[in-house]
Amino acid sequence: MARTEEQTTTQVARYVDLALEAGATDARLIPAHEVCTAEWVRLRCQYGCGMYGRCLTCPPHSPTPEQTRRVLEEFTTALLIHTDGEADICEIATRIEREAFLDGYYKAFSFHAGPCHFCESCDPSRPCRNPALARPAMEAAGIDVFATAHRAGLPLEVARTRQCPQNYYSLVLIE
Ligand code: SF4
Repeated sequence: MARTEEQTTTQVARYVDLALEAGATDARLIPAHEVCTAEWVRLRCQYGCGMYGRCLTCPPHSPTPEQTRRVLEEFTTALLIHTDGEADICEIATRIEREAFLDGYYKAFSFHAGPCHFCESCDPSRPCRNPALARPAMEAAGIDVFATAHRAGLPLEVARTRQCPQNYYSLVLIE
């Protein structure tokens, strides 16, 4: 029997603790429909990022904003994870995705931050060497990370210099 949004939220509340124990600064459960997507996000990857086309988890290999919107419609709950750069945001998300999957949330899927760093370099002409770990970044899948974080009451501002506070986000969809 399918779980309701309320049941899922109650059952997955422990993933918040898990994220915090793993080093997250904050972790919030939000309704999946509050994750914001936008077409312009892909332009920021395509024009201005040196990793465009050079990593299997980045555009044009990653899901388009339209695909991500459709995927979000298939989920009720999302866990938004925030770090200040100390802990590995991608590893935390992967760990929770795996935990949720083993708990019976077989659809669980995570979105990471930035280009994949699980190998020294990526060769997009060959199959992924770590398919169990590699996931697209939120922004690589057309998610407006700024709007999503602000909507959840979490901080994210443009970092004007390297001395500015660092904020990283990942997301795990669970149902
Ligand atoms: S795990 Fe390695 S091969 Fe797979 S996307 Fe990441 S860097 Fe590329």
